Amino acid sequence: MSTVEATQIRSYGHFIGGRSVPPSENIIERVSPADGRVVATFTAGTRADAALAVAVAREAFDEGEWPHWTAMDRARALLRCAGLMRENEERLARIDAEESGKPITLARGDVGASIELFEYAAALAMTMHGEAHTALGDDCTAMVVREPAGVVGMIIPWNFPLLLLAQKLPFALGAGCTAVVKPSEFTSGTAVELARLLTEAGVPDGVVNVVTGAGAEVGAPLAESSLIDILSFTGSTETGKRIVEASAGSVKRLSMELGGKAASVVFDDADLDDALDGVLFGVFFNQGECCVSGARLLVQDSIADAFLARLVEAAGRITVGGPLDDASELGPMIDAGHLEKVLGHIDAARRDGATVLTGGGRLGGENWRSGHFVAPTILDGVAEESAAFQEEIFGPVLTVTRFSDVDHAIRLANATEYGLAGSIWTKNIDKALRVAREMRSGRVWVNTTIDGAPQLPAGGMKQSGFGREMGQAGFDEFTDVKTIQIRT
Ligand code: NAD
Repeated sequence: MSTVEATQIRSYGHFIGGRSVPPSENIIERVSPADGRVVATFTAGTRADAALAVAVAREAFDEGEWPHWTAMDRARALLRCAGLMRENEERLARIDAEESGKPITLARGDVGASIELFEYAAALAMTMHGEAHTALGDDCTAMVVREPAGVVGMIIPWNFPLLLLAQKLPFALGAGCTAVVKPSEFTSGTAVELARLLTEAGVPDGVVNVVTGAGAEVGAPLAESSLIDILSFTGSTETGKRIVEASAGSVKRLSMELGGKAASVVFDDADLDDALDGVLFGVFFNQGECCVSGARLLVQDSIADAFLARLVEAAGRITVGGPLDDASELGPMIDAGHLEKVLGHIDAARRDGATVLTGGGRLGGENWRSGHFVAPTILDGVAEESAAFQEEIFGPVLTVTRFSDVDHAIRLANATEYGLAGSIWTKNIDKALRVAREMRSGRVWVNTTIDGAPQLPAGGMKQSGFGREMGQAGFDEFTDVKTIQIRT
């Protein structure tokens, strides 16, 4: 077992107009959720800071060269940035791990996936094109051109600080847009680091700007601003609703990646070894602080007891630990407030009649000191109408509900207001396809979970949001379609 050495406290200010702004006197201290140590400070930005960053991004779009660079030149800059990210891979992973508390092995995976997103977005940038219509009559030629959509505001949560930014930023830049990024006040380090690397890669000053601080101070102005053309938000459904309201006055385009309550549906004809691994990974990955977390297990009656017995045994073998420990598989909750929220959900589930099969509380005692650790928890007998079934817990908590047949499974899978993702475990392809088609969610996995690739779009249905990230669809979000019709 090896432990990565902690880095020094890092002090971040904004990044505006191609340079790092010195940290202000008003700072946010980020303490490690594992041991309470200060790991970083971020400028507590103001509305004026946000307005400055927006003005700079606007000018870089309206007056600057970036939207006019050739597709190949923009793609090359993205690829140079991908190379710089690779050179800084371990450092970026440590920053994300220290600030978010996630295990360093997961953080390394996030950086690797972020680099791939830059490489893929570069490929899409190279092939950006429109279409020509030549069969509208001999006197008519029409072009449908794709143009960069303008200035993009990006608001990012704390659970995948770099990866969720990489699902937006290189796509927007590849299309020729400029950006103002507002990272989470818990995890702003890698956003500022990335902006520096993009500048080093040759992206012109003013194209990428980062403002750090609280949502109400530097996030809300991005939603309200009439100088921003698109707001791309990832975060909770609750904040998403506030952003939709705040953006109404400026009629801007929105892309909303919101909360989820994914089901893992395990049929009695599944490969149960695979299903076991998948259900465990699905719910405990990133300590359950994951929008597509398989937080609800729906398991067929006939196999439920035997499957749960194995699941409980396997959950007991998960290594809970600090972010910089290579052996750690499950880290602490992001902060004390979120810890209380997760524990409150577990208590409410108990009161609603659920049985705690394993876990069920905070990991306390000398070993855990001041860390916000929750034991991997499995709650059996969770009723469809209970809060534990309906609400996003966002922690290492699996709810279990049993079903009788395919129709019952589909009904339960769809019985929440969310529609982000789900997984299906069966060897019967007809059944898998039927359930996949009837699940009202943006992503469905069959015999796998929390899987993906830069080529595959992701996004929500119902209250999980709208708009798509990644894939061609994710690139097109940052373009405007213009029709030019010529009569001769
Ligand atoms: P959050 O909604 O509290 O915050 C997200 C971001 O919005 C932060 O940067 C925050 O500062 C900012 N913000 C807060 N109030 C704001 C306001 N009034 N105006 C503008 N910005 C504001 O979410 P969180 O707790 O950081 O992240 C967890 C949530 O994100 C979960 O609900 C999770 O499901 C969701 N999420 C969704 C996806 C997805 O792809 N659908 C991915 C990851 C996380």
